[in-house]
This record gives sequence, structure tokens and C-alpha cells, in this order.
Amino acid sequence: MLKFLIWGIIILHPFVIFFELKNFIEYMDRLQELKELLSSPKTITLTTHRNPDGDAMGSMLGVFHFLKRQNHRVFMIAPSEYPENFEWMMSIQECLIWDISPEECQSAISNADIIFALDYNGLDRVDKLGEAIKKSDAQKVLIDHHLFPEDFADFMLSDTTASSTCELVYDFIELLGMKNKIDPIIGDCLYTGILTDTGSFKHATSPKLFRIVADLVEIGVDGNAIQDKIFNSLKEKHLRLLGHCLHNRMEILEEYHTGLIWLTKGDYEKFDIQRGDTEGIVNYLLSLKQVKIAAFIHEQPKITKLSLRSKGDISVQQIASKYFRGGGHKNASGGASFIGLEPTIRKFKEAIAETFNKELSN
Ligand code: 5GP
Ligand code: MN
Repeated sequence: MLKFLIWGIIILHPFVIFFELKNFIEYMDRLQELKELLSSPKTITLTTHRNPDGDAMGSMLGVFHFLKRQNHRVFMIAPSEYPENFEWMMSIQECLIWDISPEECQSAISNADIIFALDYNGLDRVDKLGEAIKKSDAQKVLIDHHLFPEDFADFMLSDTTASSTCELVYDFIELLGMKNKIDPIIGDCLYTGILTDTGSFKHATSPKLFRIVADLVEIGVDGNAIQDKIFNSLKEKHLRLLGHCLHNRMEILEEYHTGLIWLTKGDYEKFDIQRGDTEGIVNYLLSLKQVKIAAFIHEQPKITKLSLRSKGDISVQQIASKYFRGGGHKNASGGASFIGLEPTIRKFKEAIAETFNKELSN
């Protein structure tokens, strides 16, 4: 099976001059093949990762609206529910949720001519949905920006330097020669993912990204309105929970420039924590000058989940993949543990000590 693999966007990226001609020709052939595949109406099922965030829903909805306008029949599937603060996004209610209606999701996968994998690059990130995708004969298109993509798609737009999958969806539409089809509705979706995955542009560095954002604003995307809908929609319980985390559940490991916050199952009940309610809490640790690694460790009914963040050159991706069966990006990763909260906290501290001691001995 030929692969359509782009490490760095070839046409738009300065790396173009280093790109081998052979790969470039193969890439152009594959792009042509994909264009032909999409040139007549198809049944297309879009999928994204468990616990979908703004980039997951933004990229999926952006592609949804784009493909609908080309007369395709389009379905969307998320493994689990999306957070309430994305409820305003147009057509989000059409998204099927595997946890709620697995049969309907399974038939959307079985009937698909083409399946898109958006904002994830490994089938283990989508649980049972992954098994269904693996079994399907549909053509698979992956658009993603996480490190170390798995080899399961026929067409891959994988760029780990991209700020977000939404940035890559913009590139994808541009590569198809259809940039003029990006309207304010698609623009709102792409802006949402760029906004949330860059931490409101705090981690946005590339001039290319700002040009894309400028284009979106030019076609009528109202960035301030989107920020307001996403970030100013908290309930009182969210601020009380944040206060609890910072006051009672925070520990700073000065020696290792590391901060951690944890939550117990009891906290989940006491603060009525629902999906998405803990989003962003880990980032408060990074606002401490001495903290270079931040961890948010929370106990769920079956697993203990970790959210890891870092500053600069320190890679939390390595810590997540080596110790917690996880992955993600250099400065933002996640993983899980199956040994309960306290042992997980101990394991995290040991992992940090090991990482730092190894760095020192190098
Ligand atoms: P978050 O901490 O916000 O849940 O996730 C941060 C980043 O790590 C995201 O890019 C997410 O896709 C990735 N990530 C989170 N949990 C896991 C996991 O269990 N496995 C892998 N491979 N990546 C994860
Ligand atoms: Mn993303």
C-alpha cells in the first residue's frame, strides 16, 4: 500500500528545498489520487479521539462542513462525549458518540467509503472504534500533528510541527486547491482548534499559523466571540474546584522543578466533576517560575489519568510513553495508569527523579 506521508508540509514549509524529488513526485501522485477519490459523492465517516477537545471537534466539524458542501454524505464519531463549552459549534449535535450509541457508530464505519482520522495517530486512542476502523476496507485518511504516527492510513497528512490539527485541515483544503471554499462556518471550527491547542496563542510561534489566522479573520471569523463562548462559560463549581486544587492538592518538587496536582474519586463526587471540567488546571503549575514540568493526576472509576506539560526542551512525551503507556507532544502529553492514585503519584515521582538523574549524568 502506497503511503502519502508528509513530514512537514512540503509546499508551504521551508523544508521544501531539502525534500527529495522522488518523494515529492510520489506525494503529488497521492494528492492527485485523493482529489479523484473526493471528486464524486462518497459516504465519509470522520472520527476523532476519546475525550475530544477543541482541536478534535474543530477539525472534525471543519472537515464535516467542507465535505458536506461537496455533496458527500458525512458522519462524525467521537468515542466519548465532548465538553459542554463546544455545544455552540454548528452541527456538533450530529456527532455520534460510541459510548452512547455503539451500533449506530459501527454502521457509520461499516458503510463508509472513506474514513478520516482527525487529531489522533494511533488506533489505541479511540478504543473500540479503533477495532472497527482496523477491520474496515474503507480508504483511510489521517490528518494529525502528534508525534510517532502509527501506520494505518492510506493517506497521511502528519506534521508534528503544526500547532493543531485544525491548522492542517486548513492546509489540506488548500492542497486540494479549494481554499476559497473555507467560509465563516468552517473558519469558526478551525479557529476553535487553533485557539485551544495553542493555549490562546501562547504556544503559537510560526508566521504561517498567524497568516492562516489572519485569513480566517478576513473571511469573517469573530475570534473574540469564539473566545468568549469557549472560555467565559464556567460555572461556580469550576472556580471552587480550581481553588481546591491550588490550595489542597498541589505539591511542588523543588529539586526536580516539577509541580503536581492530583484529584481523588472523592473530589470528583464532592465537586460534581464532569468530562472537560478539569481542562486547563495543569497549566496553572507552569505559571510558577521554577516549575518546568507539570502533572495533573486524577483518579477515574477504572484508571488513573495523567496530563503532563513542560516548558522548553524538556519532553514529557518521553515520560508519558516510557512510564504511562501514553504519548502526545513534546510539551503536552498524557497517559494512564492502572495501579490506583497513590501508587501512580509515587511512580510519577520516581519517573521524574530517574529522568532528572539521567540528564545530570549525561
Ligand atoms: P491532555 O493532557 O490534554 O489530556 O492531553 C495532552 C496531549 O496528550 C494531547 O495531545 C493528547 O492527545 C495526548 N494524550 C493524552 N492522553 C493520552 C494517552 O493516553 N495516550 C496517548 N498516546 N496520548 C495521549
Ligand atoms: Mn490537537
